[in-house]
Amino acid sequence: MSGLREELEALLKARIGPRASLRDAQLDAVRALVEQKRDCLATLPTGFGKSMVYQLPAMWRAEKDTPGVTVVVAPLLSLLRDQLRGCDDLDIDAAAWCGTVDKAKMDRIDADLRIDYHDGGPGIKLLYTTPESLGSQRLKDALRVCATNGCLSSIAVDEAHCVASWGHDFRPSYLALKDFRDDVAPGVPFQALTATATPRVKDQIVESLGLKDPVFVAASLNRPNLRYEVIRRESMRHGDDVGTEAGDDVGTEAGDDVGTEAVALAHLAAMAKETKERDPGSVGVVYARTRHECERLAAALQDLELDCEVYHAGRDKEALARTQGNWREGDLHCVVATVAFGMGVDKPDVRFVAHWGPPSTLEGLYQESGRAGRDSLPARCVLYCSSDELDELRKVDRGNCGAVDAYARGVGTCRRAVLLGHFGEKRSAGGCGGGEEMCDVCADPEAVRRAAAAADRTADRAAERKMDDARAAAEGEEDVARGGGRGEAVKRRRVEVAATAPRVPLVPTQHRRVPVGPARKPFVPPMKGTKYRLKQ
Ligand SMILES: [Zn+2]
Repeated sequence: MSGLREELEALLKARIGPRASLRDAQLDAVRALVEQKRDCLATLPTGFGKSMVYQLPAMWRAEKDTPGVTVVVAPLLSLLRDQLRGCDDLDIDAAAWCGTVDKAKMDRIDADLRIDYHDGGPGIKLLYTTPESLGSQRLKDALRVCATNGCLSSIAVDEAHCVASWGHDFRPSYLALKDFRDDVAPGVPFQALTATATPRVKDQIVESLGLKDPVFVAASLNRPNLRYEVIRRESMRHGDDVGTEAGDDVGTEAGDDVGTEAVALAHLAAMAKETKERDPGSVGVVYARTRHECERLAAALQDLELDCEVYHAGRDKEALARTQGNWREGDLHCVVATVAFGMGVDKPDVRFVAHWGPPSTLEGLYQESGRAGRDSLPARCVLYCSSDELDELRKVDRGNCGAVDAYARGVGTCRRAVLLGHFGEKRSAGGCGGGEEMCDVCADPEAVRRAAAAADRTADRAAERKMDDARAAAEGEEDVARGGGRGEAVKRRRVEVAATAPRVPLVPTQHRRVPVGPARKPFVPPMKGTKYRLKQ
């Protein structure tokens, strides 16, 4: 076949614009399908143009009047809607089959899929669906006819890492795809696509989907425009905050938490506002692990005058759509969300992604952070975490070998190198450089080392205090037995600790205090039932 590259380049320029160009990895993946008719596993990072791997063959077939449909399996409905919009722009005939499609439309798709090869084949070139909808008998029957007619060109499996059972986005319904092909479309190639996969996840994708002698295509996962940072919350405590709590709450755990968390929150709000000042239309995302945590954070950040709303499965659909819509349009600066938010949201100018607490896997951290800076302009990816959270994560680490822990606690190795190394990508250069945004370790290794040491010291002190408290409580029991006041020893010890604990001012002064004045907006809880308020 002469000049597949030139043909595809020409198509891209005609449909997208004169500056569009084909990347080698895209070409390799398309070649595996249209020339070799082989299964393919493509690992292409966010923003690389992963969907081109099935969109390009669809355009190419249409251009050549060759009948053929590709079924695209995607995990989320929101993803399907975004993809359909994209196909409109590229002038590709595409449709979606899912629970929300009305009967008349399903009838049309059903009839279209049954059009014979010699009658030109189906008009639809890409049929988007979810793994659950692919199980519907009606769709199966229509696709079986389509495959028998020789009109089913490929099955593209987007977010293919969802088949990895111990992965961060496991979806059991993905496991049915192998049986689907064996039953309905034997011999039709799979195009498995993912933004990230460790060698172990790749093995699992091959096994679970039953890929036969697949072509492996991989592009570097490096995102040069992302700046990776870790903020150990304990390192951010400063005298004032601890002091304000000291009056009635000296040294209790709750008091310490509020002290350190308030500074970290102020840092987060200041960082968000600063990105907005530099790029006024831009937006950001804060990820938290639970719905409750999202509510709590959003309330606290609103208190710091950050324009944000929560996004999690506990809110009704209308409210979620409104929040997502406002955020997409740039009318809402920031979304405080669980990990469900963002998958499939293709917004180019996300200027920061913050994780409040460590995600359970480094894949999760990479993917969620990867939603920042799709426009290739600088963006910040900041992980805020505490020693307690990291310890907790280590306990429940399911075969991840402490990867997140190593990333978060590391002081001597470039964050970018740790992330890429996790996916089996070695860097000859080592640290950030050559036009890459500098991670915190590469930018100022001494500051990172100091912050980590301060965080470890604080954590050690907290652990010591806990033990002292337990000992003092036991002594208190004895006091009671002797007729003295219970808990006197505990109080005594706490006052001693508060008086001797060194202060660690590591946060720039402008982040220490958020001005409180008449201009401050009244606090409005984002939802009913928000009980937690940050202490002022
Ligand atoms: Zn670095």
